[in-house]
Amino acid sequence: MRPQAVFFDLDDTLVDETGLMSDCVRRVAEDLQEVYPFLSPDLLVRTYLEASLELWKRVTPAQPGVTIPLMRRWTWEEALRRLGFRGPVEPFLERYTALRDGQVRTFPDAKPVLLELRRRGYRTGLITNGETALQRWKLDVTGLGALLDPVVTSQEVGRSKPDPAVFVEAARRAGAVPHRCWMVGDLLHADVAGALAAGMTAVWVRRRQPPTDAAAQPHHTVDALSELLSLLR
Ligand SMILES: [Mg+2]
Repeated sequence: MRPQAVFFDLDDTLVDETGLMSDCVRRVAEDLQEVYPFLSPDLLVRTYLEASLELWKRVTPAQPGVTIPLMRRWTWEEALRRLGFRGPVEPFLERYTALRDGQVRTFPDAKPVLLELRRRGYRTGLITNGETALQRWKLDVTGLGALLDPVVTSQEVGRSKPDPAVFVEAARRAGAVPHRCWMVGDLLHADVAGALAAGMTAVWVRRRQPPTDAAAQPHHTVDALSELLSLLR
């Protein structure tokens, strides 16, 4: 049956958050190589990404007092702690913020796929666990915002994926019923598990190695967004 709406996650589904994050962490490590030669850029990137993924499982900007700058600080503190580093976090955090702020990178097929789905008559929307202002900014500068309606953020709903309430609210705003909606996202524990709990059809975009802790079984698995065009004819 044709879905009434197709929802997308934003970070690492439509925009290449991890790619940008990795590049920025690597630059920071390279910049500070002379001061901290024992911190290998490869190891720092890997540790930072792990710390970030684990943090986002526990904390999101939907929670009171939680902001992106604070989450970045916690991620740097945790990554450096895991590497046995006892020095100040500021040199890392300041460089990282300067490199990262004001940047966003979309996957090359994101916009073409959204455009084509719209051309085929599908309603496309967004469900994100990010900070409303930051996610809206990303949608504006990339032009993705014009192709997504409704846009639902965890911060404005006050709940985060995988809470089914966020998915149910998104369906309501699209004038749809959850079991006639699809959800496309990169995180099994947040996007896929939440969509399934809300009764949606779940599509997993396999951006990284499968996490071992996730029991959620997606209806479909794709390695690129463009594969959606054969699933949604
Ligand atoms: Mg994501």
